[in-house]
Amino acid sequence: RAKDRGKNNYQLFTPSMNQDAMHRLTMEYQIRQGLENNEFILYYQPRMDLALNKVVSSEALVRWQRDGNRLTMPGDFIPIAEESGLILPLGEWILKKAISQALAWQDQGLKGLKVSVNISSRQFQQKGLANMVAQTLTETGLDPRLLELEITETTMMMDLEKAQRVMEALGRMGVGFAVDDFGMGYSSLYYLKNLPIDCLKIDQSFIRDLSTDPNDTAIVDAIISLCRTLRIHSVAEGVETREQAKYLRQKGCEQIQGYLLGRPMPYHELREMVVNGIKPKL
Ligand code: C2E
Ligand code: MG
Ligand code: MG
Ligand code: MG
Repeated sequence: RAKDRGKNNYQLFTPSMNQDAMHRLTMEYQIRQGLENNEFILYYQPRMDLALNKVVSSEALVRWQRDGNRLTMPGDFIPIAEESGLILPLGEWILKKAISQALAWQDQGLKGLKVSVNISSRQFQQKGLANMVAQTLTETGLDPRLLELEITETTMMMDLEKAQRVMEALGRMGVGFAVDDFGMGYSSLYYLKNLPIDCLKIDQSFIRDLSTDPNDTAIVDAIISLCRTLRIHSVAEGVETREQAKYLRQKGCEQIQGYLLGRPMPYHELREMVVNGIKPKL
């Protein structure tokens, strides 16, 4: 690969190089530029507690404002950032930004509003992640209990000893852990019990056809009871309809996130939403 040949050697694109490889190289270069030029922004999607009927948290979701107003979605660059290692500087920027935003909310009268941040596999495996998070929390003064990190089952199971160390170190400080896209990966129930996990986010693919697909209904019911048994919070992702929300509440799911409450939005819109107490009537 061109980048392996040293900084000052540029390799020309050749017709033999397939389009995919070319796209990747271009993207890598642009992501690096984007970081330098501050082109990344965080949107926040509300998460509501069904018992309190209140927005209690929000998930930080990265977007890339490349040219003008067009937003590039994470699906189009996170995988390339992950493969190239650029996820490490990008991920650090995201964490720091989300932490400072959460801190700002506390000062703006949104006391107790939490933030949750997605951590990619490579970022989670990175040496020094726990220290970096701990140091950022100490420097900013954000209450660690207001920060939750989202990792997938696959990430967690990749290196269990490492996962245990990182999660316990940060867990002791008060940082929470959510298992993202739960049900899509392969996790051992044993580890759900033995790692410091605070919440399972039920993957949106199970929520989509909740009212019509009996398999989805059964899976969602099972995950909710599992959460109750293990004393882990349950969150349903991708909730778009009132029917889904009603069903989930009736089954004892604790929180929901999805377009029904709101799409990911700029920080000031989320703030307004929470201040005005806008919420759907369920
Ligand atoms: P995720 O963490 O599972 O995030 C949820 C995704 O579902 C978001 O897509 C969100 O916009 C979308 N979503 C939320 N509610 C609904 C709904 O009601 N219906 C439907 N159809 N979709 C809904 P987004 O923002 O495009 O992010 C996609 C994925 O990219 C995320 O999945 C996450 O894995 C990754 N990602 C996003 N931001 C970051 C980040 O800051 N760091 C890392 N490492 N990954 C990120
Ligand atoms: Mg997530
Ligand atoms: Mg998810
Ligand atoms: Mg995910």
